[in-house]
Amino acid sequence: MAYERKNIQAMNAYTPGEQPDAARVIKLNTNENPFPPGPAVLAALASVEAGSLRRYPPPAAGGLRDCIAGLHGIDSSKVIVTNGGDELLRLAITTFVEPDEAIAVLEPTYTLYETLASAHGCGFIRLQLEADWSLPANLAESLNQRQAKMCLLPNPHAPSGRLTSSDSLRELAGNFKGVLLIDEAYVDFVDPQLQHSCLSLLSDFDNVLLLRTFSKGYSLAGLRIAYGLGAETLIAPLYKTKDSYNTDFIAQKLAQAALEDQAYARESWNFVIAQRAWLQDELDMMGFSCEPSQSNFLLVSMPENLQAKTLYQQLKDRDILVRYFAQPRLEDKLRISVGSAEENQTLIQTIRHLLAT
Ligand SMILES: *Cc1c(COP(=O)(O)O)cnc(C)c1O
Repeated sequence: MAYERKNIQAMNAYTPGEQPDAARVIKLNTNENPFPPGPAVLAALASVEAGSLRRYPPPAAGGLRDCIAGLHGIDSSKVIVTNGGDELLRLAITTFVEPDEAIAVLEPTYTLYETLASAHGCGFIRLQLEADWSLPANLAESLNQRQAKMCLLPNPHAPSGRLTSSDSLRELAGNFKGVLLIDEAYVDFVDPQLQHSCLSLLSDFDNVLLLRTFSKGYSLAGLRIAYGLGAETLIAPLYKTKDSYNTDFIAQKLAQAALEDQAYARESWNFVIAQRAWLQDELDMMGFSCEPSQSNFLLVSMPENLQAKTLYQQLKDRDILVRYFAQPRLEDKLRISVGSAEENQTLIQTIRHLLAT
């Protein structure tokens, strides 16, 4: 007997990237940060007293929330701390979208968006990105015409790494009638020279929700902690729908320690940016081509006579995991996370060897 709702029966579960147990595997498939968490985080972890776990954690992660607000120079009422960015996405969909309304995405995109829409049972509008992964012209009009209640947009884009300028997003936010959720999971890896920031959109628009996470930029994917930024009128209802204690005591403490050590975080971002350029050069020289990426991964097109799926399998056989998507527009490409210097070198040497044989 199946007891689940019809939409749950019909939907597919999210397929996460492989998480192998073997330590020897070089993992370049789920965009984790190659840096370990910083010394401040380790010290905060060591200082956790077991007795403090007896009590419930601060329900709105007060200390961390104030720290986030301080970092961005905004009021705490514009911040909500969540159990990973994925929880924020779920909260946003359940809070802002009626089941008989629809969310819109621009494909290809983060596949969890569809999973969450299916679980909610709401409509799912698929628009297509242009060939260079840029936003189509007149996007706001298309969204309004199709009555999208919310648009989910990763920026830098996943899985291409392309960055859409804050000016374009400003225009979109101003013309779109629904909620614009800008998923900034990878924004920490944007080249600082570009001076990219969407924070100013928060004061000018009441329909912009920014997603930030500690998973990628702060090397804390295992901790499950992230946050949302938006106008107070957008953030307040999310507090009604979140779990009463949605983030745990240890995660709050460690995330705050990570945030307070901006110098260490910046070091890891600069490292990733430099390694990204090195990887791209090496791949270019071997006949691959990479989308210009402002993220901690590269979307790599194959040289002639090489199938992406074949290379994926050959690398896997040699304990190097990268991401292959059997999807339109992606099946001839691989998404490769920027790893440690040693991992990146091993990857390049292995590919060079494979191409030579
Ligand atoms: C990693 C990621 C997230 C959030 O991940 P969490 O670990 O849940 O914080 C959100 N969007 C995209 C596109 C991501 O890649």
